[in-house]
Amino acid sequence: MKGAISMDIEVKQLSVTFPSSTGYVRVLRDVSLLFHEGKITALVGESGSGKSILGTAIMRLLPENAKMTGSISYDGKELLQISEKEMNEIRGNRIGWIAQDPISAMDPLMRVGRQVTEVLRKRLGWGKEKSRKSALAQLEKYGLADPIRVYSSHPHQLSGGMAQRVMAAMMTLPSPEWLIADEPTKGLDPLVRKQVADMFLQIKMAGRGMLLITHDLALAERLADRVVVLYAGEILEQGSVADIFKNPQHPYTRGLLAAAPSRGLHPIPGNPPDLSHLEDGCIFRKRCALCGKGCEKRQTMRKVGEVHFVKCGVMSD
Ligand code: SF4
Repeated sequence: MKGAISMDIEVKQLSVTFPSSTGYVRVLRDVSLLFHEGKITALVGESGSGKSILGTAIMRLLPENAKMTGSISYDGKELLQISEKEMNEIRGNRIGWIAQDPISAMDPLMRVGRQVTEVLRKRLGWGKEKSRKSALAQLEKYGLADPIRVYSSHPHQLSGGMAQRVMAAMMTLPSPEWLIADEPTKGLDPLVRKQVADMFLQIKMAGRGMLLITHDLALAERLADRVVVLYAGEILEQGSVADIFKNPQHPYTRGLLAAAPSRGLHPIPGNPPDLSHLEDGCIFRKRCALCGKGCEKRQTMRKVGEVHFVKCGVMSD
């Protein structure tokens, strides 16, 4: 916290819509959430649930044809209203973004070392030698065993795990208050996944807030303080790690957990709804085994524990 100002990120009634050939696709609807500074919040859900859209919306990196309504506030600023110049200051300096595919997010023609030192030279005005030394130390700190070789490599010469580390090293320079990581363990083998998880644990210990967008429920359970479950553009449940993993209430959350490799890989039957033609009622009802009276009505979030909320009238009664 800077002085008395909270460095939480607050999202209120955020909706995101894209035009398409079949109508307007409402990929995120009325999402309200508080991301607490210094804590890790995991966003989990199936593909297409809106997890990455939410992270990208906070960074204001959605395509130009996306229509956003609602509010995202941070450090007393309304991120949907500030100028592109102000937003650029926040990106990287205050909120770091680790993209889903870090190799593609880097400049393919520029050596890794130059990409890392540019961050220091541009943001802190450091000279060449000071930036180089600091970049090498940072690469080593993030577990790259041969930082000199990595420094002089091009992005395509890095493995997936190395690229994740380089991106994390770059994004924690100089020292942002927040990191948003989009599927940081996707496509990595189990050993590298564990190493990347250890690296995020280190970042957490350094007191940084993090928004962890992931399919990897084991990673969310290991790292997160809070977990938010998204489905078809809506939040269906949120709570502490224990609430979600030990005492899940929403039928979708239970299905998601049962579909995890560690819990038997039992898939949730059916498919998510067509977001360009949404029907009334509970968004999950076409796939819910408990669907019955009352489910034809739109559901609202209800409190079922200290920080535990669920959007299902049947399970919260
Ligand atoms: S409101 Fe009804 S359909 Fe929706 S999750 Fe709850 S029980 Fe299932």
